[in-house]
Parts: sequence; C-alpha cells; structure tokens
Amino acid sequence: MVTSAASTQYAYLMSTVSRFLDSHLHTPLCGHASGEPREYAQAALDAGLAGLCFTDHSPMPRWYDAPWRMRIEQLWQYVEKVQDVQAEFAGRLDVRLGLEADFHPGTERFVERLLGVHEWDYVIGSVHYIGAWGFDNPEFTDEYGERDLGGLYRDYYTLVEGAARSGLFDALGHLDLPKKFGHRDPDGAAALRTLDTVAAVGLALDFNTAGWRKPVAEAYPAPQLVRAAAERGIPFVLGSDAHKPGEVGYRFAEAAAQIENVGGRIVTYAGRVRQESAQGDALTAGPQDPA
Ligand SMILES: [Zn+2]
Ligand SMILES: [Zn+2]
Repeated sequence: MVTSAASTQYAYLMSTVSRFLDSHLHTPLCGHASGEPREYAQAALDAGLAGLCFTDHSPMPRWYDAPWRMRIEQLWQYVEKVQDVQAEFAGRLDVRLGLEADFHPGTERFVERLLGVHEWDYVIGSVHYIGAWGFDNPEFTDEYGERDLGGLYRDYYTLVEGAARSGLFDALGHLDLPKKFGHRDPDGAAALRTLDTVAAVGLALDFNTAGWRKPVAEAYPAPQLVRAAAERGIPFVLGSDAHKPGEVGYRFAEAAAQIENVGGRIVTYAGRVRQESAQGDALTAGPQDPA
C-alpha cells in the first residue's frame, strides 16, 4: 500500500476533478485535431473525470472558415462516432454530444437549422472572426499591428453580444479570445457590458483552460472577468478545448479553484438543459486507483 505524500496529493486532486466533465473537446473531423474520440474518452477516464462532452467545430455555410471545421456531409459521421464512444464507455464515463458553433452575422439561419437536426447536449457559441479576419489564427497575427486594440475589442464584444442575444447557444466560448497572442484588452468596459447581457439572457461561459497553453498564458476568461461574471450570477462550464487526447481535463483543479474562490459555480448541459451539479450522472465508480 502506498502512503506517500505524493499519493495523498494525487488522491486529493483526483477527488477534486472527479466531479467534473470536460465540455469543450474536438475530433479529427475538424481537420486540425488528432486522436480518435475514443482516445479522448480514455484520457478523460485516466484523468479521473466524470465525463466529457464533445463539441467539435460545427459545419457552417460552405464559404465560411471551411478548412477548420467538419463539412455538413460529415455531421452524421460525427454523431455516429460519438454514439459509438457512448456505447463503449457506458456506465464508466458520462459521454455527451455537443457542438462549438460560430457566431458570424449572416449565418444565424444556417446555424439554427443545423441545431435542429439532432438533439445536442450542449452548444457553444464562439466568435473567431472580426469581418473576414480570423483573429485567432497564428498565420494572421500581423493584423494586430494594423489595428487599434481598443477598437478591436469593441468590435469583438459587439459580435459576442450578438452571439449572446441570438438565442442559439448555451454558453459563449473563450470570452476574451483576442488576447490569445498577448494583445490584452486595454479597456474592459465592453467586456463588462457583454457580461451584463450574458447575465440578462441567462447564458453560461466556457471556462476555457486552453489559454494557459497559448502565448497569453491565461485561461479564458481573465481572472477579473471570472470574478465579474460570478458577481452577476453567470455560471461556468469547464472546457479544455482539447485538440488532442493529452489535453483532456487540462488544469481543471486550478480552474475549479479559481471559479470557486470568487463564489462562482460550475454547471454542465445535457439535452441543452443546464445541470446545476457538475457531477456526471453516469459516474458509478470512484476515480481509478493510480497503481
Ligand atoms: Zn479548433
Ligand atoms: Zn474556439
């Protein structure tokens, strides 16, 4: 029997994360992720998580961001792949099926129809473009030097407010994404106005730990926005934004501590209904023994 301090620490971390689902995960169907869905599920199990919700980049109209998402013809392949994982891990892991859709003015009807063709568990609404500029694409970071940062963030949050008001989504993805490469919001007022809107329409926020893996080295949203959201009663959904199995559950213990320290709460979605407990309902066993 192992009784070292390390194993006590391990057991503590496992007991912390075993309450959680990872609700922001991709699959190779989007063209820029690796690992089969079952490998993500195995990684979630190995990390001691209660479950996971796949939210791959949804199909969009063909003219929009085509290389970075599944095509509409691949949608049923996605559904089937996740259903296979649900069957394989039944009773061991709560496996849910969602989408990360984009909010981009003019595509709302397409997204609305897409969301109607299947019973998704959870839909994230993300803004990845300001006009025709994919601002989170590492290839196009030069553009940050051409713009006034304050104006950039105002334009961005106007779009995010549009996403919040669209009624299409359950949560907003990576709220302060333009900071990804280190270009931080010089103001903050537009972000706070957006949080007022998010609270008014009753949406949640994706607490996205991928920011800790990017140049900015800070999760989305920033700590002051996490606090401001918690003060407004906005809940958080934990997501690693994993594009490979090794990223599943990335730094969730820290994420949860940060949220809980400011009085925030963590929720999940099933059948597009908010679950106030982060506990996966299919979890029947405790975390795996590390030995
Ligand atoms: Zn992606
Ligand atoms: Zn995204």
